[in-house]
Parts: sequence; C-alpha cells; structure tokens
Amino acid sequence: MSHLKIAVDGPGGAGKSSVCKEVARRLNLLYIDTGALYRTVGLYVKRAGIDPADRDAVVASLPALSIGVRAEQGRQIILLDGNEVGDEIRTQEISMYASRVSAIPEVRAKLLDYQRGFANEFDVILDGRDIGTVIFPDAEVKIFLTASPEARAHRRYLELTAKGVEVTEESVLAEMNERDRADSTRESAPLAAAPDAVTLDTSDLDFDGSVSAVISIIKSKRYVLTPEKKKKIKKERRSYRFFYFTLGWIVRFLHRIKVTGRENIPLTGGGVLCANHIAILDIFSIGASVPRSINFLAKRELFKVPILSFLIRSAGAIPLERKKTDLGAIRRSVELTANGNLVAIFPQGHRQPGMNPADTEYKSGAALVAYRSGVPVIPICIKMKGQKYRIFRRTEIIIGKPLSQEELGFVNGGSAEYREAAAKIFGEICRLGNFERTLPAPEKDENA
Ligand code: C5P
Repeated sequence: MSHLKIAVDGPGGAGKSSVCKEVARRLNLLYIDTGALYRTVGLYVKRAGIDPADRDAVVASLPALSIGVRAEQGRQIILLDGNEVGDEIRTQEISMYASRVSAIPEVRAKLLDYQRGFANEFDVILDGRDIGTVIFPDAEVKIFLTASPEARAHRRYLELTAKGVEVTEESVLAEMNERDRADSTRESAPLAAAPDAVTLDTSDLDFDGSVSAVISIIKSKRYVLTPEKKKKIKKERRSYRFFYFTLGWIVRFLHRIKVTGRENIPLTGGGVLCANHIAILDIFSIGASVPRSINFLAKRELFKVPILSFLIRSAGAIPLERKKTDLGAIRRSVELTANGNLVAIFPQGHRQPGMNPADTEYKSGAALVAYRSGVPVIPICIKMKGQKYRIFRRTEIIIGKPLSQEELGFVNGGSAEYREAAAKIFGEICRLGNFERTLPAPEKDENA
C-alpha cells in the first residue's frame, strides 16, 4: 500500500515545524523535520572546525559524516556519531551553518535518502524548503507555509528568548532576511513553492488557526471537488448573496435581530455552524447575522414547497433525510467544509416547541462532519422574545468562539467521540444563552 506524503515548504519562522508536529499528532502521521538534518550537518561541520562557506572542505568531510535517523513513537530521532542531537542544533549560529551547508549539492544528495526513506513505511508529513519540488514532487498534498518577515522574526524571537537565548528582535530579523535570501537564491534546490502547492500565509493566524488551516488543506485534497461541483458552488454563492441582500433586511426588520459575537466567524476556511432551532425563519436569521455565505442543511420536505424549494436549492441548501442517517448529506457537508465553506446544521434536527435548548435532544452528525473535514465548530444560540408563532419578535443571535478539533476532543474519531463532541457543542450553545443543559449526550445517533 502506498503511503500518504504531505510536503510543507516555506521560509524559516513560518511555524512549519510546530504546526507540522501538531498536525502529525492529530492525523496520526510521522513528522519529518528535514531542517534538523541540515542543522545536524551544520553542527558536524562546526565541531570539525570547518568553515561552512568553504565548499571543498565541507565536501571532503562528508564521507566521515555518520548520521542515523529513526522513528520512535511517531517522533524522528537524529543521531550524530551515535549520539542523539538535541537543542544544540537550534541556535542561531547553527541556523547559519545549516543554511550555508545546505547550498552545497553534495550535502543535499547525502541527505536525500534519509528524507525519502520513511515514506515507504509510514504516512508522513515533511517540512523543509524543497520537499514539494525535489524530494517528493509526487506528494499528494503540497503546502507552502509562509508569513511576513516581521511576523516570522517575532515568533523566532519569542521562541529563542523562551529558551533563555539572549537576542534582539532586530538581530533575529536580520539573520532571517539573510537566510531567506541565501535559501531562495542558491542554485541547488532553492526555496520555492511547487506550482501545485497551496500557499498559506500565517501572518495573521495563531498556532491553532494555522494547524486548522493546514488540516483543512489536507482534507480538501482528500475531498477533491470536480470542476462541475466547483462551478455549482460558485453559482450557489451568487444566488445566496442575492437572496440575503434582498431578504436579509426584511428578516432583520421582522425579527429585530441583535447579533453578538459576529467577529467569531472565521473570515476564511471551512466551519460547521451549530445552532438551536426555534422557528422556521431561523435559517434566515442566521444568514442575516453571519458575514459569509452558508450552506444550510434543510429537511427534504422543504424541497417540495414550490417557491421556497427554488430559493433554498439555488442558494445551496443541502437536503437532509431526517428519519435515517443521511450519508449523502454528510458527504456533501464534509466536501463543502473541507473546501473552505461554512455549513449550518441544527443538531436538534427539527424545531423544538420550547424556547429553551436545555429541554431538548440533539444528534451528533455535526460533530462527525467537523471531524471528517477537520474544521472548527461555531456554536450559535438563538433566543427569541415574543409569542411563539408571531412574526414580529425580538431575536438575539449569539455567536460563540469556534471550537477547535482539540476542544471538541477529537483524537481518532468514532461514534463515542462524536457523541461527546455533540454534547460539548450543545453545552456551549446553552452556555451562550445562559440556559442550563439538563440532558446527557445522545445515546446512539449519528444522523445529523
Ligand atoms: O527549517 P530550518 O530552519 O530548521 O532549516 C535550517 C536550514 O536548513 C534552512 O535555512 C535551509 O537553508 C536548510 N534547509 C534546506 N532544505 C530543507 C530544509 C532545510 O535547505 N529541506
């Protein structure tokens, strides 16, 4: 069986190694830090007292270089002359040594097999400078992870000072600019994005955001959209925006919507919106409160109501069979969220008579979708004041902070995890609305 190869390239300080390590942990991959190999050669050259810029001397020293690499509990261990290398390869001085020796083709050739070897045995994620272009041009997923020089220097500065290294931010930035220049202008395997790589700029993302974004890219490559599907989604987006432009203000007026937490909707990337369900117009209230297009799961029966059917169908609603586990609806939701779209699901399945989500049951399909596509869940609480079926009433939409895969407790997936996650999501919806949740997690239900 061939193994999955994920290539992550990019300049230093973009967060490659910490992000890849976490992605590997969550997706059960072996993480290979190829920079550490070059750093180890740098350390070797330094210990031998060789000037790293002296190409001939470095090349002449290579036959005596003895590196060992092995995988231990999902971790890459590097040995130099039989001893495990540790933090001594993480200094600024060794960064510079690594950068110099990595420009030498003989050094690159020597490290080639160490980088390729593990892919025969494990699903791997590798980070480096030339993984998608030279080491694995056939990698299933290629990501170019980058960030502005200032953001990268700031992160590296925090990392170094946390380890007690005395540096200034200016010196880190200067060293980084110098390394960027050397890495991208060298003749042998320069730092470059592969033409088929997805570029991810992490300047404005925190660690969790970067990890989620990388996982989303990986998942979107697994759930590839055909050109026809892409075209359909684009068309649905246009209709959606048109409807909300025209209908949104009517709904806002009728329901006198007050929204809090709008900033919790991520501006890009996929996500599952989960809300309690009180009234038929909930989908419009949510649509009018969220600053992005949404695909709603809507019960199949609604697709038979004449005009409504046309409206929701063209705006990308997903028909849902509620009596049984609707695999088609789940697949479509995963596909959409994995490809950077928002899908809204009412975990209660149908409207609940009371206004209080505490007296309710809910299902775990939304958690299943979030796990499969690797996206966060955004909890939304809908509160209404006014008589139950009156059209004029006050609606409060409270949007909570996205719940990451980690916060949802996902490790390996499976129905027990989805049930737990569903309980967390609904607990959060209740917390947002100041409701007490009284029911335990649902027993054995996986349909949305
Ligand atoms: O990623 P890291 O900062 O640990 O890499 C150290 C140096 O090793 C980089 O500046 C780069 O010059 C070199 N390198 C490389 N090719 C790789 C990984 C790292 O040339 N695949």
